[in-house]
Formats: sequence, C-alpha cells, structure tokens
Amino acid sequence: MKICRFGDNRLGLVEDRQVIDVSEALGLIPAANYPYPAGDALISRLDAIRPRILELAASGQRFEVSDVAFLSPVANPSKIIGAPSNYERHIAEAGRDKVISAGRKRSTIAEAGLFLKANSSLAGVSEGVRLRFPDRRNDHELELAAVIGVTCTNVSEADALDVVAGYAIGLDMVVRGPEERSLRKSIDTYSVLGPWLVTADEIDDPDNLDMWLKVNGEDRQSTNTSDMIYNVARQIAVMSSFYTLYPGDILMTGTPEGVGQVLPGDVMEMWCEGIGEARVPVFEEVTA
Ligand code: MN
Repeated sequence: MKICRFGDNRLGLVEDRQVIDVSEALGLIPAANYPYPAGDALISRLDAIRPRILELAASGQRFEVSDVAFLSPVANPSKIIGAPSNYERHIAEAGRDKVISAGRKRSTIAEAGLFLKANSSLAGVSEGVRLRFPDRRNDHELELAAVIGVTCTNVSEADALDVVAGYAIGLDMVVRGPEERSLRKSIDTYSVLGPWLVTADEIDDPDNLDMWLKVNGEDRQSTNTSDMIYNVARQIAVMSSFYTLYPGDILMTGTPEGVGQVLPGDVMEMWCEGIGEARVPVFEEVTA
C-alpha cells in the first residue's frame, strides 16, 4: 500500500498513477488530550486503519499523480535521524572535496553513530527546498528513508525490519560551513520525505533498491542501497540502543556519491525502485 498526504492535509492511497482521497479514514484516529503521546498518530495506527483505507478507495475521488501536491507522508515524527558517511564511494568523494572536508573529520556510523535533524525541517516534495543561505554552498543528499511503525527500544538487528512501517525517498539537504551538522541540516525544508510512504510489506529487501537523483535533467547520484556500509536493520539496532523509537520516526540512511550543489530555480528529480519518483523544486527563502 502506498499512502500519501496531499493538498490541504488530505490522506490518499496511491494506485496506478492516481491518488484516491481516503481522508475519511482519519476519523478512526481518536482525539488525544494534552500532553499528546509521542509519535505520529496516523503511522501508529496504520495497520488498524488499513481496511478502512481500502474500503474508501473503492469510491474515493481520484486525481492524477501529476496534479497532486504531496506533503510529507509523516506529519509528526518524534525525531528525524540521519546517518553520516554510509557509502564507501561517498567517503572517498568527501575526502577529495576540500569545501566539505576543511577542518572537519569525516566519520562513519561505526565512529560517530547517528545524528538528529530538527523535526521542523520536514517537508513534502511539492513544498520544495527553500535555500536560507543561497550565497553558501547547499548540497543534495539522496537517501532511502525508513519510517518506524511502533514504539520500540533495544531492537536486535534480526528483528529490526519488523519495526519499520514503510519506506520513502529522503533528501537530507545541507548548507556547507563551519556550524554543527545538526544545525546546517535542520533549516526549514532541508528534510524532504516522499512522495509517499510505501508500506514495508511491499518492499522485499530495502537493502537492494536502485535509486537516482538528477538536477535539471543532469545525472547526479545513482546507486543501489546494497552499497550501504550499515544496512537498514543495523542502523535501527544502533539507534534503538541509544533511544526509544516512536511511530513516525524517520531514518535517513546515508547518501551515495554524487553529492552536489543546488541553486534557486533548480529542479531535483528523484526515483527509488519500489517507491516511485518525484520532482522537488529549489527556491530561495523569502523572508518578509
Ligand atoms: Mn545524509
């Protein structure tokens, strides 16, 4: 099942290049009292709501995918987790790139663990990326994103894929510079998730997916997730050994080689096997 959030916070089922409005299924999410429970209310109830989604899809209003403005398929993650260098050829590329490496030690998951990005950086593909510092170098990082489905902690590698609700394409955007990585990767819209969430039952092996990213039609990044140094399960084991994971938590699993600059007016196109493709425009942030 491919589910999306679109337009004015509608819930959609994606089928055959169409989006079917199944927003009525959101009525099955009970109202919560303050303080709200951690995690995303929809993702935590996805299995319970799934039959209603399929029922509504029989008669829901249909739109062409090309006519739909996709929001992030997760609305309220408790955290967005990023993986540092997790592809050998990206490590080599980063070592060659003096802009990136000046004064900074490159590190792998084994050396540095994982890092966090602000939840407020999350955006859907239709919202695009807004460059806050267009005079500095802003880079795209294409990544497979895994969305956690249940509350869990200390998950073993063997059980790790069972806690995944689904997968999406992630863009871990970054502005280069001397500040902490978590700051430079937490600008509004610098965590793009989408175009929709493919439930885990539809992805046989998240560690064997082709994916690519183009900018203005030019090839930039192309890989298979089998090239990851830490696969999805191992990353989940590492992060859950440090903190509890909640439904809707987003893991961005690291970027392959081909990281490069984007400028206002650029259009990124991204595709992942088993998930789909999307266009993500780049703008300059306009502050009133
Ligand atoms: Mn990254």
